[in-house]
Amino acid sequence: MIYNIDVLIAGAGPTGSTLAADLLRRGLRIRLVDKSPHAFKGSRAKGVQPRTLEVFKDLGILDEALTEGGPYPLAGIHLGPITLPWRMIKSNKPTPSIPYPNTLLLPQLRTDAILHRLIDRFGQRIEFNTAVEGFEQDVDGVTVTLSSGEKVRCRYLVGADGGSSAVRKAAGIGFVGDTDDSDKWLIIDGTIDKLSRNRWHMWPRTHGKQVAACPLPHSNQFQIMIRLKPEENPNLDEAALVEQFYILTGFRLHSITWSSIFRPNIRLAKNYRMGRVFLAGDAAHVHTPAGGQGLNTGIQDAYNLGWKLGQVISGAPESLLDTYEAERQPIAAGVLGKTTELYAGLDKRSLSSLSSLKRGDEERQLGISYYAGLLAPADTPSTKTLRVGDRAPDAPCTGPGGARRIFDIYQGPHFTLLAFGANAAKSLLQIKWPTNGAELRSYIVGAKQVSDENYINDAASNLASIYGITDDTWVLIRPDGYIGSIIKNDWMRNFSNVTKFFY
Ligand SMILES: Cc1cc2nc3c(=O)[nH]c(=O)nc-3n(C[C@H](O)[C@H](O)[C@H](O)COP(=O)(O)OP(=O)(O)OC[C@H]3O[C@@H](n4cnc5c(N)ncnc54)[C@H](O)[C@@H]3O)c2cc1C
Repeated sequence: MIYNIDVLIAGAGPTGSTLAADLLRRGLRIRLVDKSPHAFKGSRAKGVQPRTLEVFKDLGILDEALTEGGPYPLAGIHLGPITLPWRMIKSNKPTPSIPYPNTLLLPQLRTDAILHRLIDRFGQRIEFNTAVEGFEQDVDGVTVTLSSGEKVRCRYLVGADGGSSAVRKAAGIGFVGDTDDSDKWLIIDGTIDKLSRNRWHMWPRTHGKQVAACPLPHSNQFQIMIRLKPEENPNLDEAALVEQFYILTGFRLHSITWSSIFRPNIRLAKNYRMGRVFLAGDAAHVHTPAGGQGLNTGIQDAYNLGWKLGQVISGAPESLLDTYEAERQPIAAGVLGKTTELYAGLDKRSLSSLSSLKRGDEERQLGISYYAGLLAPADTPSTKTLRVGDRAPDAPCTGPGGARRIFDIYQGPHFTLLAFGANAAKSLLQIKWPTNGAELRSYIVGAKQVSDENYINDAASNLASIYGITDDTWVLIRPDGYIGSIIKNDWMRNFSNVTKFFY
């Protein structure tokens, strides 16, 4: 069978672009097509959650994101002549295990641009003005029809083509949930004269409407959101938007660069996979914008799918790809519930109900775990702090190549195996790992000053204590930063029981 490429990705939004970058660093042949003539130009999803920042660290684009983004300011609730300061998003201090604890304010157009630059550095072109129109699949591959008329033969097709996904529709996958057509928001990116930039301004009820204006970092722009009345169909001309904003807030808006009407949908795809076709991001789940979860959940879908596609294309069992839906669909279902709950809080008008707007730990997405799922059986060993399927936390340590933290060691498309204790270290020698697919990097963790490329110095026991190690243990970390296995004895047999799914 001749394949032109391994994977065709429909949609160069945050989800498709993350997947493209991950597959490119695995050496796969891909194409990334997008129906739109250019990259998205609005601020839309502006909250990048801590877990996504860890994905960016792994992809090597964290510094760019931190440079182009900024912290969320305090909210400023406008109640008549009074502006009440309000901490809507909890501010957390970095800890040894959570280095990026806070949500980053980064407009979506900049997130997309950072990912697009990364794709460009891999020498890959994004094909704008090119839509996926349909596909046919057989046991060996997928033949995709593009709007140019071209037919592309690929091993897998991924629909990261947003909420109205053509791939999802062509696959006949149901999108179950609600759209409330009477609920509409007007979103505008523009400049506002004389409105302070140190507050996320909110007018909870002005002329019967909710209005918010969030200052976008390193610019003179705000993202403005106005909740419309059910019967309203606003004029999107600049003059009309300026007038409406002045009536609602008394401030002068100008230099509008983007505006859009948004109807919150709450829907989940019945399946994330149909044979060789996958859905990811908004194509698979859409939520209300409350809580800033959509972009983040999409990026993490891509991060979960990328290494699995890479491994299966390199010869791992096809069943590894079933674990994508099994792991990610319940996460999206949980996010849908959470964002809907937060969104319902917006309807409450009293001051005491402002607490329902508060964002906390769940939104940071650091607690996501695949424990007790297909790749993380509940009847396998755990440590004092970690179970299989949990996020692999960061920890200070020193290692080869100037590594100062365990996240430096994890950075890249490989699996990592940490061996704690003399018996665990000795048994590493028996491991055989295939040369195709993602590499396995194994390390002995100890307290010696050894400059060996497979030795991690944990003299202060930070790593051992954060990882809850009490006896001889192997900890296998998947390429997407979750615990793949915890082994305490019968090393090779237990290792093969897990890794038979991985390669
Ligand atoms: C007002 C608002 C605020 C939000 N705030 C947040 C937030 O703070 N945090 C957060 O995480 N999320 C937020 N979201 C949600 C977030 O914007 C989306 O979840 C995110 O854009 C989804 O990314 P995606 O790549 O899956 O899809 P999209 O960004 O929709 O990208 C899909 C891409 O596919 C392309 N495409 C469409 N059809 C085809 C086709 N047939 N062939 C090829 N390409 C196609 C499109 O042109 C587009 O570029 C917000 C949304 C809104 C509206």
